Amino acid sequence: MNIPNNNMQRLFSKHKQDYMKVLESVLDRGVYVLGDEVSTFERNFAKYIGTNYCVGTANCLDSLYLSFRMIGIQEGDEVIVPANTFIATVMGISKNKGTPIFCEPDEFYNIDPARIEALITPKTKAICVVHLYGQICSMPQIMEIARKHNLYVIEDVAQAHGASINGKKAGSWGDIGCFSFYPTKNLGGFGDGGCLTFNDETYLELAKSLRNYGRMGLYHFVYEGINSRLDEIQAAFLNKKLEHFDELLEDRKRIAKRYLTEIKNPKIQLPKTKFELESHIWHLFVVATEKRDEFKEYLHQHGIGTIIHYPEPPHLSKTYAYLNHQVGDYPITETYANTILSLPFYNYMSDEEIDYVVKVINAY
Ligand SMILES: *Cc1c(COP(=O)(O)O)cnc(C)c1O
Repeated sequence: MNIPNNNMQRLFSKHKQDYMKVLESVLDRGVYVLGDEVSTFERNFAKYIGTNYCVGTANCLDSLYLSFRMIGIQEGDEVIVPANTFIATVMGISKNKGTPIFCEPDEFYNIDPARIEALITPKTKAICVVHLYGQICSMPQIMEIARKHNLYVIEDVAQAHGASINGKKAGSWGDIGCFSFYPTKNLGGFGDGGCLTFNDETYLELAKSLRNYGRMGLYHFVYEGINSRLDEIQAAFLNKKLEHFDELLEDRKRIAKRYLTEIKNPKIQLPKTKFELESHIWHLFVVATEKRDEFKEYLHQHGIGTIIHYPEPPHLSKTYAYLNHQVGDYPITETYANTILSLPFYNYMSDEEIDYVVKVINAY
């Protein structure tokens, strides 16, 4: 049996008629960037996340860059960020000339709230949390630390659309939430897309201007902005997907539940959840094992596709060589990078496919 790590075509084929209708209606209308579909999506998504506002962007890297710019991060400012994240999170800080201060994760792969305060200096301006693999961070604790030290909180929610604690969703806790609608994300389009979510009205005009060259009205320009707009086609697909998004999340829960109860191999460590069920929306199903590369090869031999999220922590990347970090600086992060593996996980994965993955892993 051959099981890819991800199969997005499965979801498309299931809803093909709906999506083709959406595509046709957008093309027929003749407005392709920042039109009614985008403003409708911004309204719908703000309501879904539970914030006053949502502003569409071209992708999450732009959302991150814009959000750190909106809170005024400048050269010399420090931002505390998990060491185990996708490099885009860190780029949002460094593209504003801010200094990323890396923090080790806890056993749930999220920034360890117990390690944050020790990293705060007079230069610290913000804490950036990343709700990794679909699990929301320890937001009640982190917000308390931020309030106590008067720090901004930026949330990277690229992997956790809909995850919540006590009904309060990721992207509504901090000052600004940054989302990605890249096709593989739980709420993904058929191309790039992203957005910002926030409650503060003063960010609304700023965000809308910065994503559109720093424009104010039709003819005036007030900031050196960027071009980071959300397409009508992507917004229309996202509006459609949002209608049945809860069903898609339930479907992912089904797969996670099966993996969690049926994978039984002392060599394989299963992911843990810290809060109630709704705190994890299962973007990725990440296991850990000591001889990871050998295990990856074993699964590959049996036709099972796996990916590593992520084998090279940002502090050891060439991009951030100028920060002068060494191997051993963040041992928990580095151990994770060497032992984690993401199993096949996608909407409408069949029972037979899950059976097979479980059987092969249990025989390892
Ligand atoms: C995917 C991802 C991003 C980047 O999103 P893009 O829309 O591809 O720019 C940022 N952070 C995390 C944690 C991600 O998983």
